[in-house]
Amino acid sequence: MSLFNNKQSHGVHPPGNKITANKKIERAPLPKKVILPLSQHIGAPSKAIVKKGDEVKVGQKIAEAGGFVSAPIHSTVSGKVSKIIEMISSVTSNVGNAIVIDADGKDDWVKLNKPSKIDKLSKKEILDQIKDAGIVGLGGATFPTHVKLQPPPDKKIDTIIINGCECEPYITSDHRLMLEYGEGILKGLEIMMNVLSCNKAYIGIESNKPDAIENMKKIVSESNNSNEIIVESLPAQYPMGAEKTLLKKILGLEVPIGGLPMDVGVVVQNVGTLKAIYDAIYEGIPLIERVVTVSGAVKEPKNVISRFGTPASEIIDYCGGSASNADVMIFGGPMMGIAQTSFETPTTKGTNSILIKKNTKEIENNCIRCGTCVENCPMNLMPLMYVAYVKKSMYDDLKDYWIDNCVECGSCAYGCPANIPLVQYIKVGKAELKKRGDN
Ligand code: SF4
Ligand code: SF4
Repeated sequence: MSLFNNKQSHGVHPPGNKITANKKIERAPLPKKVILPLSQHIGAPSKAIVKKGDEVKVGQKIAEAGGFVSAPIHSTVSGKVSKIIEMISSVTSNVGNAIVIDADGKDDWVKLNKPSKIDKLSKKEILDQIKDAGIVGLGGATFPTHVKLQPPPDKKIDTIIINGCECEPYITSDHRLMLEYGEGILKGLEIMMNVLSCNKAYIGIESNKPDAIENMKKIVSESNNSNEIIVESLPAQYPMGAEKTLLKKILGLEVPIGGLPMDVGVVVQNVGTLKAIYDAIYEGIPLIERVVTVSGAVKEPKNVISRFGTPASEIIDYCGGSASNADVMIFGGPMMGIAQTSFETPTTKGTNSILIKKNTKEIENNCIRCGTCVENCPMNLMPLMYVAYVKKSMYDDLKDYWIDNCVECGSCAYGCPANIPLVQYIKVGKAELKKRGDN
């Protein structure tokens, strides 16, 4: 129950700018070197099992999971480990280790562990294969998938929601996946339904992607699947792809404050993750690459399959380079993405988009208490209070306004007439509470 549960969920309508929606997925050239951070997921960093000078092949495990909530990492090129460095995470800004591999250009693969009889695999074998493949949520959260597929025994899952919304402006990687790899997505969903013993699923897609809705409906109707799988057209409204928004819109369910979808019997998974599950189970291919939308101020915006660890500059060059006046690179979209400090920053499992922009930093003014942020918040929170309390270092008071229910969607900052970077204040507040062990 939220504080303002009598209100409607709001959200905003930023311009879509989906300029790559009709661009077929292309394969980017192999990188000359890759930089693979050991922390590319939520949870414990992976532990390196290679050292400087080791020869590696594509798909070879180079780091093991560092705990239950963790995932292994595989080499995305063949070549030689040139060094292990410390670097700042492109997501958390924390310092961690990364394995640097000089590619030999041969693209020499390890022998893949391709199961011979998929339908004979036990649930444990499937979960082990998913874990071994290093699969994490590819919608941006990067939560290890094998953990999400093992809810505690008291959390019975009766519905799966597949997130095909892609409500962030500019990004079209999931849209193209649904058009070009829909069969793999459905097969990944069937595996997931089997593992969770769940026979009902929704594939939620925003109504501004009618071709993806039509394609997924066709693929579902032509399959021999005996489960109930419904392709649901959803309003095009940001942040429709937030897990809690999806649950409310499709099932009318509200996740308890501080809770997870599994608390109301639901698991939410992104379409890209399902394709990765398909690759791992049917082809034995670990997670080494993904579709990345390259958009904004680049000469040839594209959707490209790119190996993890590729310096962003190489991918941007493949897209014709950035416009001369562009000076900002964001991993993700303009609402939730994270600005990077260098064009050499490597992509990771969570990088669904590279957005190039011109810096238009506005001057931050004082809050005029107009209420726009409250109106826009899909979680019915009061974002202006977070700014006030963080400015005064009154962190304990943040809890009274359910800051842990904030999904950091940025809807509050969108349209704030005072140009207040509300999400930055929220992140500071959450980090401070976490440091104190309160959140
Ligand atoms: S939208 Fe901006 S100015 Fe208006 S109440 Fe919220 S923080 Fe204050
Ligand atoms: S970032 Fe948080 S507070 Fe702001 S609109 Fe989104 S959920 Fe609400």
